[in-house]
Amino acid sequence: MLCSILLLDNEDKHLVTGAAPSLPDFYNAAINGIEIGIGVGSCGTAAFTGQRTIVEDVHTHPYWAAYQELTARAGLGACWSEPVRSVSGKVLGTFAIYHHQMHHPTDEEIRLIEQAANLTAIALGRIRADQGFKESQKLLSDILENVTVYIYTKDTQSRYLFANRLLRERFDAPMAEIVGYDDTKFFDAEAAAHIRQDDLRVLEKGETLHTEETNLNILTGVAEVFLTVKLPLRHEDGSIYALCGISTDITERKDIEEHMQHMAQYDALTHLPNRALFNDRLQQAIISAQRNKLRLAVMFIDLDKFKPVNDTYGHGVGDLLLKEVAVRIQSCLRESDTAARIGGDEFVILLPTIETKPNARKVGEKILYALNQPFELAGHTLQISSSIGIAVYPEHGRNEKLLIKSADIAMYHAKQGGRNNVKVYQPGMQAVSQ
Ligand code: GH3
Ligand code: MG
Repeated sequence: MLCSILLLDNEDKHLVTGAAPSLPDFYNAAINGIEIGIGVGSCGTAAFTGQRTIVEDVHTHPYWAAYQELTARAGLGACWSEPVRSVSGKVLGTFAIYHHQMHHPTDEEIRLIEQAANLTAIALGRIRADQGFKESQKLLSDILENVTVYIYTKDTQSRYLFANRLLRERFDAPMAEIVGYDDTKFFDAEAAAHIRQDDLRVLEKGETLHTEETNLNILTGVAEVFLTVKLPLRHEDGSIYALCGISTDITERKDIEEHMQHMAQYDALTHLPNRALFNDRLQQAIISAQRNKLRLAVMFIDLDKFKPVNDTYGHGVGDLLLKEVAVRIQSCLRESDTAARIGGDEFVILLPTIETKPNARKVGEKILYALNQPFELAGHTLQISSSIGIAVYPEHGRNEKLLIKSADIAMYHAKQGGRNNVKVYQPGMQAVSQ
């Protein structure tokens, strides 16, 4: 007896060689890929009809008419083919027995061929299940290894069981040097203790944690921010055997957020607070002054004849001058004071704890003097002056809007008064049309 197992391809249209070790290679090659149908030998017919196909003499049977040369060369006389079916009854292929001579099967031989076909079906089922398992393993592995998040599992002692590619790269270690170790190997002591604490909440209490953690990367020395989800992995009986962690590095996003927050509150050119932040601080200062029955002062500064600086030296030099003005203004102030740039050449200052109007005027004069000193910028020596208006809480305004308005009015009076001077608001002062 010679045996062959042929399998249906994915389209269920062709038979491909599964196993046929005792048939000659040229024969197997000729049969491989054959399209099934009635009259396509015993196997093509059996696969097509789903019926056992017994051909006692291949030399005379019409099913084999097209293969006379092939069977003669291979020395084949009889071929009996049994469809191989899956559990659900679908034809998966054929199991065939060949004889060198013409041969009629006995009942015993029919049982044998049936059994062989059943065994083949079981083996094929195993192979397909293995293939399915391998495919899903590969899919999972492809995902784990290619995602741009850190994925890991840890045992109940918080030691790594698995680290995906990104995490292995971050730890700069192969799997063998990660599995079995805890985080003391990869983080500084404080961070490792913190991580362990979270791990135990998951492993012992079964919590699912969503955390944002900042850890020092001991390889680069750079602080990194992670958004982490940690969840328990459970046996069917509910007991926890591991934790799974998924961490996203949000350092860059955090930096951008901080940068945007800074941009929303600070002037890009001078890095002084902008109007929004100034108003906020002024509001707070007014609340505090009101509670403590104290005074505070708001100062409005506008540079004199700044436009001609731009016109003469260019906008770039104008910018440099504005930056230098910011530095000089700040050098005249205390830590608790706030200077802000609120427009082109307009600055406002909050003096949150001023005792008397003359004190506020003194600070104004100090700034006036500082801005009067020559500036050395880009090879040019520039001389400017400024006009400064001051308003004091509570007498010149009880809220931030009124206070700034009063300081603005006082500043325009300083301009009107010939520029380069400081004016404290007086109740009679009228707004000057700009
Ligand atoms: P005045 O004495 O009346 O204040 O005259 P001025 O020339 O200073 O005029 P004003 O205060 O009305 O205008 C300020 C000018 O500042 C207007 C604009 O050309 C210039 N400016 C506004 N923003 C910027 C900036 O960001 N950089 C530079 N270089 N110049 C600016
Ligand atoms: Mg000006």
